[in-house]
Amino acid sequence: MEQVIAIQHLNKSFGQHEVLKDINFSVYKGEVVCIIGSSGSGKSTLLRCVNLLEKPTGGQIIYQAKNILDDNHNLTAYRTKLGMVFQQFNLFNNHTVLGNCTIGQMQVLKRTKAEAEEIAMHYLKVVGMENYIHARPRQLSGGQKQRVAIARALSMEPDVMLFDEPTSALDPEMVGEVLKVMKELAESGLTMLVVTHEMGFAKEVADRVVFMDKGVIAEEGNPEQIFNTPIQERTREFLKRTL
Ligand code: ADP
Ligand code: MG
Repeated sequence: MEQVIAIQHLNKSFGQHEVLKDINFSVYKGEVVCIIGSSGSGKSTLLRCVNLLEKPTGGQIIYQAKNILDDNHNLTAYRTKLGMVFQQFNLFNNHTVLGNCTIGQMQVLKRTKAEAEEIAMHYLKVVGMENYIHARPRQLSGGQKQRVAIARALSMEPDVMLFDEPTSALDPEMVGEVLKVMKELAESGLTMLVVTHEMGFAKEVADRVVFMDKGVIAEEGNPEQIFNTPIQERTREFLKRTL
């Protein structure tokens, strides 16, 4: 299997507070990895380190056989290869749906407007938002906003999509439409790293589940292992509280 990203001995501290401790894992092409764990266990910080929204304090991130933390020249190129979907959507409120999905393509990837719009339209169809291209984010429901945010990230044609609790800011009735899109993306072979508290989604869609506790990976395995026969006591405790 082709390795897309490998995280090796990653550490992150904020001042004296060590939030990530010796994190090691890889993401393979076409794989869906779900990260679960209690609030405050470091899941968001890990995703933010992977896409360099936070600077790791130690360790390596290997991408295309290079430690990207060593090689300053490639940081921008590397970041364009990672799509990010946030809990709070982070859409540009002063742009239309189509504008949201083209601006990064034109500014960062230097695509022409016509190219960018064609690609954006493709991904807006994938998420079922092609009929809203002229709408502004404020006119959309939470579920629609999140689907646009997914289309925007996909429009950059990243190697990996990172999702940080993409459904936890949504009203319950909108969670399903976003999970459905994510499931379809997973089935289409997209490489995905998903922080989620949707255990049903993790069980059904993940190839691998990573359980984080207090800044470490406490346990990892396929969904059956983690959910049915967890080895660690703290995994069992977490699942008991969550399920
Ligand atoms: P999770 O996403 O699992 O809920 P986070 O990664 O958000 O956890 O947070 C892990 C720990 O790191 C928490 O104790 C949080 O307070 C701390 N933390 C996160 N971001 C910062 C920051 N920018 N400055 C200081 N502490 C932070
Ligand atoms: Mg978080």
